[in-house]
Amino acid sequence: MSGLDELYKEVILDHYRSPRNRGKIEPSDFDLHRDNPLCGDEVHLYGHVEDGKLVGVAFEGKGCSISQASTSMMTERVKGVSVDNAEELAHLFKRLMQGESLADDERLGDLAALQGVQKYPVRIKCALLGWNTLLEGLKAYKEKQG
Ligand code: ZN
Repeated sequence: MSGLDELYKEVILDHYRSPRNRGKIEPSDFDLHRDNPLCGDEVHLYGHVEDGKLVGVAFEGKGCSISQASTSMMTERVKGVSVDNAEELAHLFKRLMQGESLADDERLGDLAALQGVQKYPVRIKCALLGWNTLLEGLKAYKEKQG
């Protein structure tokens, strides 16, 4: 294993052991529970939007290290950004999981640590669980706004 892989593994384990933005937001603008039955991963995501910005995002969940670390990193990355920007990041992350070489894309930041998941198709669903939940939540929020 290369030094870079080791570093990436550390980032993922750190988020798994000490998830960021863990908890609930009440009242929230969206609040959804989604799972990945293939692996037994669960994510409950809460979001709070003000002036078009995702000012609060938090989650509860359980499951494998990839699903929980990816969701933790996602909350850290999208907190404080605009709803449109958060959607853009989610699509960028999906492209990373689909095998595009985006590790140098600065917009991804620490999320690049998950690039290695590309090699394990079964784990891609784990890595995308939190992000797909976010996209669904943002979509529901936008529809509510009309
Ligand atoms: Zn999983």
